[in-house]
Amino acid sequence: MRTVIIGAGQAGRRTAELLRGLDAGREILLLGDENEPPYDRPPLSKEILLGEEQPRGLMQREAAAYGEQRIDLWLGRRVARIDVPAARVETSGGESIPYDSLVIATGARARVLPLAGADDPRVLSLRSMADARALRARLRPGLRLAVAGAGLIGLEVAAAAVQLGCTVTVLEMGDRAMARCVPPLIAARIEAWHREAGVALEFACRLTAIRPGPDTLRLITSRGEVEADLLLVAIGAVPNAELAIEAGLAVEDGILADACGRTSQAEIFAAGEVARIRQSCGRHLRFETWQVAQHQPVAVANALCGADKPYAELPWHWTDQYGHNVQILGAHGEGLEWIEREEGGRLACLGLDAEGRVQGAVLIDNGREATPLRRIIAAGKPLGRDRLLDPSVALRQLC
Ligand SMILES: Cc1cc2nc3c(=O)[nH]c(=O)nc-3n(C[C@H](O)[C@H](O)[C@H](O)COP(=O)(O)OP(=O)(O)OC[C@H]3O[C@@H](n4cnc5c(N)ncnc54)[C@H](O)[C@@H]3O)c2cc1C
Repeated sequence: MRTVIIGAGQAGRRTAELLRGLDAGREILLLGDENEPPYDRPPLSKEILLGEEQPRGLMQREAAAYGEQRIDLWLGRRVARIDVPAARVETSGGESIPYDSLVIATGARARVLPLAGADDPRVLSLRSMADARALRARLRPGLRLAVAGAGLIGLEVAAAAVQLGCTVTVLEMGDRAMARCVPPLIAARIEAWHREAGVALEFACRLTAIRPGPDTLRLITSRGEVEADLLLVAIGAVPNAELAIEAGLAVEDGILADACGRTSQAEIFAAGEVARIRQSCGRHLRFETWQVAQHQPVAVANALCGADKPYAELPWHWTDQYGHNVQILGAHGEGLEWIEREEGGRLACLGLDAEGRVQGAVLIDNGREATPLRRIIAAGKPLGRDRLLDPSVALRQLC
């Protein structure tokens, strides 16, 4: 019995290790196109840029650990095709590898700007360790860095770069920071950190052209021109689902999978950020978070061994900027009333629905409240604004 896993990132590693824990006898082959053993990406836009070589949370295992677990780790191998009728994968180097079951854990790639000039060597993106090293090598005092996109990665890079002495301008076509993942009152706090640090934030500002000159990049925006030495494009990610599309699997902005990771093809599973996972409400959602890459493989590994342990978890992710830790739990979309509970510099911002139930929360430097809030959100009981705002009532008393 051989399981082949395509993609040696966080979800691929987790699937391989969990599978080994469940099945001592199976052959497990983990194929990755990068040359690094699996690593977790969050430190790439944080500690690595600030100069830490081996931050905690980057490499979860030494390369030797894979051999010890009898996981065959083949690096520098790009899978070019899945031959479903023959149950084989083909690498770009011409290898043809048979499988009994297959896991696609190919993650996502940085979205590119569809503009002339975007292929200039001074236009970078940040997805891999190689990208992080290339960016860090260029950040130096006085460098004029423009960042396209005020999402999580764009703002983490802006924070690191300004701390390294760069002059930073963020160009965002929306009207605020991190619009996809935090409510406006949290965005306002995050924007204030950046402005205090000297970052220029330009909202409602669409980048329309890149004019590379010999000494500078001229960036033409809907609000005027910006001159930069380097442009970081951080405008979102695109799932690496082409292999699945060519293999005839059902794909819609990610590989459609049930809560156990099963795709439309019985022996093929999807893990991590490339999967668009069926939720209990019937909708399929794709999450670009560490949490999903870490925990959804539990369901995949179990399903590979014939046990159903559907993945269902309250969405959670975090960002670190200027020494502040921001944790984002549950829903943060339209229709919620946001209230703030602040104690000694620690903030809990709670999103209430019309019945007064907490549906989402954002914590600033207040990670200890994540556990009670998970329980409060899961319980789905109306708690009332006054009790939630009462500083003499601890959140853990309400769950
Ligand atoms: C810079 C950065 C910072 C982040 N910070 C945070 C954070 O603070 N908090 C948070 O919650 N989340 C964060 N995330 C998101 C989180 O790390 C990702 O969602 C997670 O990496 C997804 O893991 P994955 O294994 O699904 O995909 P990946 O980690 O992308 O792994 C997929 C692997 O498959 C390889 N691959 C693709 N195609 C092929 C092929 N055809 N053949 C072989 N190999 C292939 C890829 O090269 C890659 O190595 C961050 C992401 C980035 C990029």
